[in-house]
Amino acid sequence: MINQERLWTRLMDLGRIGKQEDGGVTRFSFTEEEREAKKLVSTYMREAGMTVREDAVGNLIGRKEGKQKDAPAVLMGSHIDTVPSGGMFDGALGVIAGIEVVQAMNERNEQHEHPIEVIAFTDEEGSRFGFGMIGSQGIAGTLTDKDLEYRDDKGMRIAEAMKESGLDPTFIADVAKDPATVKAYVELHIEQGRVLENRNLAAGVVTGIAGPLWMKFRITGEAGHAGATPMNMRKDPLMAASEIMCFIEREANNYPNLVATIGQIAVKPGGANVIPSEATFTLDLRDIDVEIRQQAEEKMVRFAQKVCDARGVEIEFELIQRVPPVPCSALVQQTIERSCRKRGIEPFSLPSGAGHDGMQFKDFCPIGMIFVRSQNGISHNPAEWSSKEDCGKGTEILYETIVSLASEA
Ligand SMILES: [Zn+2]
Repeated sequence: MINQERLWTRLMDLGRIGKQEDGGVTRFSFTEEEREAKKLVSTYMREAGMTVREDAVGNLIGRKEGKQKDAPAVLMGSHIDTVPSGGMFDGALGVIAGIEVVQAMNERNEQHEHPIEVIAFTDEEGSRFGFGMIGSQGIAGTLTDKDLEYRDDKGMRIAEAMKESGLDPTFIADVAKDPATVKAYVELHIEQGRVLENRNLAAGVVTGIAGPLWMKFRITGEAGHAGATPMNMRKDPLMAASEIMCFIEREANNYPNLVATIGQIAVKPGGANVIPSEATFTLDLRDIDVEIRQQAEEKMVRFAQKVCDARGVEIEFELIQRVPPVPCSALVQQTIERSCRKRGIEPFSLPSGAGHDGMQFKDFCPIGMIFVRSQNGISHNPAEWSSKEDCGKGTEILYETIVSLASEA
């Protein structure tokens, strides 16, 4: 059906662009490596029989017309930028698989009503400017001139980097697609976790993309001499923090999909023989159900306040960001499930904890995602790996899904 060897060869060839000494791949947006990768991908798109264009933010778009020229298009896509020393599969697989689907459809002379597009989105990861999903925001019409003011670590603004790359940032508004011209968006991506591997499954159907809530807890107490201050006379903010952190973990375990991470912690003044005066830590809280996330957040905040009151320390909560989760469309999920069955794979549903370009299409078009098993759940790492067979299976599911969506009214 699809050509697994061709898919794999292209994936490996793309993975050589930006290869680092440690075996990882580094391809930041608007760099020489990215340009080279886009050139290769546009060659593949042409080989697959698509017309290719690059829009003003650098999205590479391949298009295959359907029988009805003006029908809304079915979009596939992912990104070809990476994190520093990232893997060969994150993003790249979705783009190469989309191209393979179109090429296989052409070879089988598969008839379809709707046009099909494969998009390699600009800068999904946000590694260079600390601001990601530039291309998908452009297409959704939510990218603003202000966003292009973000700078990389050398002080270069996105707008300048775009110009350097031959793009014209004054045209970003033209990149936006009219939602009426889009039927659905489907992305194949590696899972980046271990859920599929633990269940011994090659691929899965994504139910939604969890939105992160980031907040900072700042607890202030009283510094004191570690030797001279009796335990019952302390106002130790770090001990309060540790109680709160344990509660956060326990609470997160009460929900099937909720994940809570404390990734940063700082203690002041930071002496081995000084009771801290201040402890701060961050919380990253995610679920695909915004009400569950909200409920958990409220419980955690209430508990934190209670602990701090009891210990006589002060607490402040600072919201850093509250990104809404994005549920996948029921129509697209059902189409993917049917496609799994057609390929002899029992459909299994799971949420995406990581963010993806499809999030930007929340109010734009129905979205769906297919996950492919990641070996040991490793991602954003040179050791990132998915087998040739699993990539092939995921692509076959994508094939069936796109044929259905592009054929049905
Ligand atoms: Zn990705």
